[in-house]
Amino acid sequence: LVFPVFMQSTLCPIFLVCRMAVDGEHMGSGDWDGRWNHVKKFLERPGPFTHPDFEPSTESLGFLLETCKILVIGAGGLGCELLKNLALSGLRHIHVIDMDTIDISNLNRQFLFRPKDVGRPKADVAADFVNNRIPGYCINICKRWTYTSKKSKTLMNLSTDVKFHIIVCGLDSVIARRWMNGMLISLLSYEDGVLDPSSIIPLIDGGTEGFKGNARVILPGMTACIDCTLELYPPQINFPMCTIASMPRLPEHCIEYVRMLQWPKDTPFGDGVCLDGDNPEHIQWVFQRAQERAANYNITGVTYRLTQGVVKRIIPAVASTNAVIAGRKQTVFFAYIPLNNYLVFNDVDGLYTYTFEAERKENCSACSQVPQDLQFPPSAKLQEVLKYLTENASLQMKSPAITATLEGKNKTLYLQTIASIEERTRPNLCKTLKELGLSDGQELAVADVTTPQTVLFKLKLTS
Ligand SMILES: [Zn+2]
Repeated sequence: LVFPVFMQSTLCPIFLVCRMAVDGEHMGSGDWDGRWNHVKKFLERPGPFTHPDFEPSTESLGFLLETCKILVIGAGGLGCELLKNLALSGLRHIHVIDMDTIDISNLNRQFLFRPKDVGRPKADVAADFVNNRIPGYCINICKRWTYTSKKSKTLMNLSTDVKFHIIVCGLDSVIARRWMNGMLISLLSYEDGVLDPSSIIPLIDGGTEGFKGNARVILPGMTACIDCTLELYPPQINFPMCTIASMPRLPEHCIEYVRMLQWPKDTPFGDGVCLDGDNPEHIQWVFQRAQERAANYNITGVTYRLTQGVVKRIIPAVASTNAVIAGRKQTVFFAYIPLNNYLVFNDVDGLYTYTFEAERKENCSACSQVPQDLQFPPSAKLQEVLKYLTENASLQMKSPAITATLEGKNKTLYLQTIASIEERTRPNLCKTLKELGLSDGQELAVADVTTPQTVLFKLKLTS
């Protein structure tokens, strides 16, 4: 329902200005006469929505067909739509990533999948479907990466090696969005503080939930990034480590205990296997262990569903975070003025769309290049700093690891993700900043899953 309406709406495609060289002959064997007539209407003539710098040209189609590389992250509800539309729009270098496998409940809307595909990786099936369906030379239209535990590394290599012209996200995870956002920011280059525009890879982010959605265009370093508007996402509730470790009161405490402490210690699925929220066997294991722990503390309410919710960190009320990107509308060819820059869409009851300009945050921890300050009294405990990093609406880190240089040595103050280090550094949580030897102006380096880069904070001790 959403897409047909969207496709006919008046939103202009997000065509930016294409000044890239055109190479190659685009009339390959699979092109019949008139195949690209519709696309040519966008590329070969001016119009009221074209970008002022855009020069209509018959050469742009060649760029679209032969040169432009696009990365689609997520082959689910949005991803299927995106892949189909991008492929039909003439893009031949599409890469798709998805870590999920197909569930029977996906079939009502994820139309590239059939009952026989249940259990297979989404990226594989979606790529095969598009390759088989679209005639001619499109055999290599999609490459696929079904990433597992090495997702960060794969994505990092991908983005630097393949040199995508644009990245489109159809994800259901805030962490993955932020990570991608951070990575594109890390690829920016500045000369004397001036951003080199050729280092910008535009990110189009979208999401849906039911009949609601949103879509946004992010030009990293130029327009508001995901972290600039992090307040749109409800902050996550975090439980203090000491509660989780020694005095659980809620079913969530028991699940968090298993997730954070018992999993890395027991390594039930082998060394180095990360807990995967989409793997039912993993969730089952956590669920059972959490039940055992809950029984020991007379806590009730640990269910499979709650376990899944806590492990996957499913955030209720995601409406505002989700987006519709209707395929062709964001075909990326730099000819039209881009969406500026945040579109909300709702057809729960009638149809409503609204576009506003999300503004950059001056001191955004991801894109501003402004040093981040942390203000605490010397008597504050490290636990409070951790709480701030995870609960502050504009930081919302997940499991920050904090290091500092003390007496010329790099020292890990706290690290949660490796069990042995967590155990060794846990006593630091109850120490004050003064006891830890931190002084005013001290730099703290914080690493977290929400960003591929370490965030530097300057400690300001208040009296
Ligand atoms: Zn930002």
